[in-house]
Amino acid sequence: MLKGKTALVTGSTSGIGLGIAKALAAQGASIVLNGFGDTEGPKAEVAAFGVQVAYHGADMSKPADIADMMAFAAEQFGRVDILVNNAGIQHVARVENFPIERWDAIIAINMSSAFHATRLALPAMQAAGWGRIINVASVHGLVGSAEKSAYVTAKHGVVGFTKVTALENATTGVTCNAICPGWVLTPLVQKQVDAKATALGLTNDDAKRLLLGEKEPSQQFTTPEELGALAVFFCSPAGNNIRGVAWNMDGGWTAQ
Ligand code: NAD
Repeated sequence: MLKGKTALVTGSTSGIGLGIAKALAAQGASIVLNGFGDTEGPKAEVAAFGVQVAYHGADMSKPADIADMMAFAAEQFGRVDILVNNAGIQHVARVENFPIERWDAIIAINMSSAFHATRLALPAMQAAGWGRIINVASVHGLVGSAEKSAYVTAKHGVVGFTKVTALENATTGVTCNAICPGWVLTPLVQKQVDAKATALGLTNDDAKRLLLGEKEPSQQFTTPEELGALAVFFCSPAGNNIRGVAWNMDGGWTAQ
């Protein structure tokens, strides 16, 4: 379905981003990966779908790096047809104790990076008359949780930015939507499981059950594969008129 298209997925060396990159590759899209840590493993996982893969190591907190990455993608594949703004980090602390440097990093990586990548991706999408911008927000773009002030602020910002981008392009073939996952068992969440296990003297399994029990009626983690399938749906012809939604996949978290 996506043969001939190019997808750039930020923060795709791990977790949800890698899951979405693989789902788009399975539909035939060429992929630009981004993120830190091991790059050879993720590149091989995506290349296994028989598509072209490139990697750029932009630090998504840096607008100049983002500009360099977008230029690199255009050089490699002509243009970016599908942009998935996914890179993100977390820090957990009460507002009065929240480290200023962590606040600034979360706002830059989880929110402002979506603005920078989107503003640079839009002109080519508009010229082509087709484009998909998918912002990986969170249930925390819709509701709050204690001790996650920067994250909740950034994700609410991403949901707002999604709506404005969708509206500005509403008469074109360019759509913009957000995905709002509940708990997904990635390294980002495993750190929170570990912190709970240490603080409360629990096993890894009991800490996971507690985490799910606090928020998620389904008592199940959403998977990167399920989120990848939703991203593919947004890219399908059925997604032509889905504009500005914040689509939760959260086991009932925000239905409560
Ligand atoms: P993860 O830690 O597995 O992956 C994060 C990715 O972002 C990695 O590839 C990492 O290298 C990259 N990254 C981090 N800082 C970066 C930077 N400065 N520049 C470039 N890349 C950077 O986490 P994940 O759970 O897969 O999270 C992906 C997205 O999904 C995030 O935006 C997160 O907020 C969101 N999300 C996660 C969950 C969850 O439960 N895991 C729930 C809702 C939303």
